[in-house]
Parts: sequence; C-alpha cells; structure tokens
Amino acid sequence: MTNTDNPTDIAREALKLLAARRLAPTPDHFHQVYHEIAGLPPPPEKPEAAADAKPWNKLVRELLKQWDLKQSGLNTVKKKNALERVLINFGADSPVLFDKLQALVQAWARNKAAPPGVEVDEAAASPALAASNGSGGGNGADFAVEALPQLREVISQALLVGVAPRISQYKDLADEALMLAQQAKQAADQIALAALAKNLKQYWLKLALRNETDTEVMEGLLRLLRLLVDNIGELVVEDQWMTGQIDVMRGVIAPPLTPQMLYAAEQSFKDVVYKQGTLKHGLTEAKETLKNMVATFIDRLGEMSNSTGEYHQKIGRYAEEIGKTDDIYQLNTILEGLLNDTRGMQLDIQRSRDEMVETQHQVTVAEEKIQALELELSEASEMVRQDHLTGALNRRGMDEAFEREMSRARRLEAPLCVALLDVDHFKKLNDTYGHEAGDSALIHLVRVVKDAVRPTDIVSRYGGEEFLILLPATDEEEALQVMTRVQRELTRRFFLHNNQRLLMTFSAGLSQWRENELPEALISRADGALYRAKAEGRNRVIAAD
Ligand code: GH3
Ligand code: MG
Ligand code: MG
Repeated sequence: MTNTDNPTDIAREALKLLAARRLAPTPDHFHQVYHEIAGLPPPPEKPEAAADAKPWNKLVRELLKQWDLKQSGLNTVKKKNALERVLINFGADSPVLFDKLQALVQAWARNKAAPPGVEVDEAAASPALAASNGSGGGNGADFAVEALPQLREVISQALLVGVAPRISQYKDLADEALMLAQQAKQAADQIALAALAKNLKQYWLKLALRNETDTEVMEGLLRLLRLLVDNIGELVVEDQWMTGQIDVMRGVIAPPLTPQMLYAAEQSFKDVVYKQGTLKHGLTEAKETLKNMVATFIDRLGEMSNSTGEYHQKIGRYAEEIGKTDDIYQLNTILEGLLNDTRGMQLDIQRSRDEMVETQHQVTVAEEKIQALELELSEASEMVRQDHLTGALNRRGMDEAFEREMSRARRLEAPLCVALLDVDHFKKLNDTYGHEAGDSALIHLVRVVKDAVRPTDIVSRYGGEEFLILLPATDEEEALQVMTRVQRELTRRFFLHNNQRLLMTFSAGLSQWRENELPEALISRADGALYRAKAEGRNRVIAAD
C-alpha cells in the first residue's frame, strides 16, 4: 500500500505508473500521475504548456534582426531599455511575455529605416547613456568604447574647423577654441572627458554672450545709420544727385540685410564716388567760368553807365555852352565837339553792347554745360549696376555677380545654378494694354520674383522681358523648386492694371554650373532649356541636360 503521506513513496509509485502506462517521463506526466496517487485534484493545465506552443524561435530571430537594424528615432540604448522594461514587468508570465515581446519587436519594425549616413547609434545619440550602461551587457558599451576616439576627433575638428575660423575677430575666443580642440583630442579617460565637457559648456556660454553683444552692436549701428540717412535725406531734398545715393542707402539697410546687397551697394558707391569726383571737377570749373563772366558783364554795365553818365554831363555842358553863345563860329566848334563826343560814345556803346551779347552767349553756354554735368551727376548717383525700370541688377551688375558667385562656388565646392526667365506673350500684353502697362508688369514681376526667391539669390535683367536669376549654393533640383515657387507666387499675386487683374506667366530654363564653365556657356544652356519650355507650351520650368 502506498503511503500517500510520504512524498518519496508517492514519487516512486508515480514513476512505476508512468512506466506501466507507457507515458514519457515528462514533468507534466509525472505531475499528473503524482497528483492521482496522492489523491489530490489534477493539476491545472500549465500555462507554460500553451507558451511552449508559441513560436519563440521565430520571435527571438526577429528580435535579433530588428536589434541589428538601424531605425530612425531608435538606438540600441533605447531598445535595450524597452526590452528590460518588458522583461521586468512580464518576465514571470511567459505567454504575456511572448505577446509583449512580439508587440515590442513589431513596433521596432514599424519604425522607418534610418536614412543611410544617419547613424542612429547609442554612442552618437547618447554617449553618456551608452557609457554608463556597461553593466547592461553588451553592444552599447562596446560601441561607446570603440566610438570614443572617433567622437573626440569629431569634437576636435568641429572646434578647429567649424568654430575657430568663424570667430577670428575675437582672438581670445578663437585661441580658446584651438585649446579645447587639443583637449578634446587628448581626453582619453572619464575624468578628462568630464573636464572637457565642463570647459566646453563654459565656452559655449561665453560664445553665446559675445554673439548677443555682436547682434546688439550691429542692430544699434543699423539704427544709427538709418537715422543718419533719414536725416541727410531731409537735408538734401534739393540735391538730386545726393538723394539718389540716399535712396540706395535706404534700400541697402532695410532688412533683411544680405552680404550680396552690402557688397553691391559698396561697389556701386565706389563707382559713384569716382564718377562724381571727375564730374564735380568739371562742374567747379564751369561754375568758375560763369562767375567770371557775370563779373565781366557787371563791369561792362558799369562802364556803360559811366560813359552814358559822362555823355549826359557832356550834353549838359554843351547845352549850357550852346545856351550862352551867340557866336556862330563858336557854336559850330561846340557842335563839332558834341558830334565827336557822341560819335565816340556811340562807338563805346556799340563796343559794350557787342561785348555784352558775347558775354551773354558765353553765360548760356556755361549754364548749359552746368546743367548737363548736373544731370550726369544725378544719373551717376543712382545704382550704376541697377536696371532703372525694375530695380533688378543690370548686365554689368550681373557680370560682377557671376564672377563673385563662381569664385565662391569654386572655393566652397558648392553648387551654383542659373535660371533664365522670359515672360510669356509679353508682346500681347504691351499691344493690348499699352507700353506703360507693360513697364508696370515688369516692375511687378521683379517684385514678386525677389520676394519669392531667397535673400541670397540674385535677380538681374538680362534683356527686355528676360531675367536671369543666380542661385548660389543651390543644385538643379532645389533650383527647380525655387522657380516653381516663383511661378506659384506669380499666379497668386495678380498684376493689377486699372483695377483689372492680369495673369502673367513665364517660362524658364535653368542650368547648373559645371566647374570652369564660362558664364556665357552656362547661360546658353539655360537658354536652350528656356527654348524648350516655350516650345512645350510655356508657363513651365525646364532644366538643361
Ligand atoms: P514669348 O512667349 O514667345 O516670349 O512671346 P513674347 O511676346 O513675350 O516675346 P517677344 O520677344 O515676341 O516680345 C517681347 C516683347 O517685350 C517685345 C517688346 O516690345 C517688349 N519689351 C521689351 N522690353 C520692354 C520694356 O522695357 N517695356 C515694355 N513695356 N515692353 C518691353
Ligand atoms: Mg523674350
Ligand atoms: Mg517673352
């Protein structure tokens, strides 16, 4: 008889019963038979039995796969933390654990793959976490150790190449950047890294402060300059040649301030200053001549009135003598004297009159010369590189912009694009609404284009209704986007003529600069593309092959 109180006996009997029933000695079978012999209720069906049926092998394989894949917004540190949370919370309950793990792996898989080059990695994303996770086992810590020298080099390069050259005007800060770059290179252990982090934090603060001061100084200077320019503008309303320059200055210092505009304004001012120098010299000479002539004129007038005064005196004297004498011979002598005197005076008057006419003529000539010079001066004061109608750069300004942007693109190895834009059916607009309406339409177009492109893009008038847009640091794809935006803007912002909305469209061809390509060749390729845009129906932008 089996002692159902003794577990050892029950166990022995259970094994015998298993053999008798030809059941495999699995823990479950043993458990069942044990309960039977002990007179206990049968054991509840074990959850593990159900879990065993779950495809753990597949889940683990998938988990490993997703662990190794790079997903955007995820890194192994994040994955590890999530995994640990699931293991801690559901580790005791196998089927739930399976479901939670599966859900987690599926969630990882749903995250889009990170684009190539954007390495989402624990060391890059969170070096501190990766480093402190050494005990967590694994991949994270190993990677952090491997990535550390690379990271130090990157920090050092950023300081050396990215920061120092940009703050060369502040020698102290630039020197400190170089020092920190050296420190970053040598920071081999945790203490050194901590010291570097602390120094860097302080350094960024200093840099931010200096930057704020710079911005304040620049804004202050600009305010001052605006005040000055406005004030001068008020003072020189009469002097056309000055107001031209003042207007240019106002335009340049209106935000947004761009280096291109400043550069263009500086060049233009240099030109104006040079031209004014030569013109003013001529103007001073002409004014001097005029002054001399007026002086001569007054002298002559004086002389004339003197001699007429003398004449009156003499006439008076003769009249007196004539009155007194009765002697015919004496009278005859008196009359002869009178005649001689009058003849002399007549000659005097004639001479003075001729001189006066000549002087007057010279004055007119001098006046005309002054007017011409002043007009020239006034024209020279306006933007010599600007198209007068639209305010876009003219061909000369454009040539200079090309030279500058090409050398910049070469130096920075940056792309550069050009777009040639031609208004569609512009002749029809002119014919229907008149030339003035056409002019206003061009002004409107340039305004819209300038608003739609970026501040660094340069708009110039290439010819009648053709404009060239230079797009620095822009590749063909971006240039297409910019020009499409311009097209959209032009359909959105109607051109108003006599309160009538006129829709204007354009066609454009664009080309990306190839190194060492001459501006003419680059424009010619854009022109080819423009031709195709016209041929394919207008109102479109096409890139050159
Ligand atoms: P397409 O779509 O083929 O370019 O046709 P279009 O009519 O625009 O081209 P076309 O070259 O035949 O005509 C251009 C017109 O632009 C002719 C010229 O009178 C006019 N134009 C050029 N410069 C100016 C300007 O400064 N003001 C005005 N109002 N018209 C101008
Ligand atoms: Mg044309
Ligand atoms: Mg046209």
